[in-house]
Amino acid sequence: MARREMTMADNARPAHEGEEHLEEVGAKLNWLRAGVLGANDGIVSVAGVVIGVAGATTNLIAIITAGLAAWVAGAFSMAGGEYVSVSTQRDTEKALLEKERWELKTMPHEEFDELADLYVQRGVTPEVAQLVARDLTKHDALRAHADAELGIDPDALTNPWAAALSSMIAFTAGALLPMGVVLLPVDAATRVWLVVAAVAVGLLLTGWVSAALGKAALGKAIARNVGMGMLTMAVTYAVGALFGSAVGV
Ligand SMILES: [Zn+2]
Repeated sequence: MARREMTMADNARPAHEGEEHLEEVGAKLNWLRAGVLGANDGIVSVAGVVIGVAGATTNLIAIITAGLAAWVAGAFSMAGGEYVSVSTQRDTEKALLEKERWELKTMPHEEFDELADLYVQRGVTPEVAQLVARDLTKHDALRAHADAELGIDPDALTNPWAAALSSMIAFTAGALLPMGVVLLPVDAATRVWLVVAAVAVGLLLTGWVSAALGKAALGKAIARNVGMGMLTMAVTYAVGALFGSAVGV
């Protein structure tokens, strides 16, 4: 859409700036997608636990305690997993950049030829590739190599703490939905049905947003998302009810 709305003024801007803008939009979409997935996870896990315990007992304190534990455990599990995986990725990228830096220092001529060659492989004529490689090497050799060889932007490595914190927030946003409904002053049976209804609405929303972000067929994606949440609650309720009647809670 942004491309269609480009004006003469936009065209006059250096290409570099426009590219950065598109990359920014892409990064924001990735964060949004991850946030929606985290919220979805928070809704389903906490609702599953709350409904499961409600299948075994009508004791509200027990239900709330279980929901709280599921919320905290889920948020930390998501954040921890995100921290570990982003840290590993960042270490890998840093090591690759370090190797590239060393290669540029120790074998600048080979590296220059390699860079020009990469542009030729992308369809640039050898003469122009030489010019481009020369200018980019003069400007910022490491950035040019990181981009052409590794596909990495040295200034845009993901911060593992930021990734961990945002998945914790996303999970919590989802968890608040079933937790909030559980606290409503209603009788035990109504409470279960209210949680089911709230979860259905919540999953409809997360399913809709993630399908829209992924440009998938809305109806099918929403039905799948809501269906999986309902299945989860049906199973945890059945397990809770079986356990509850077996031990006579
Ligand atoms: Zn290189």
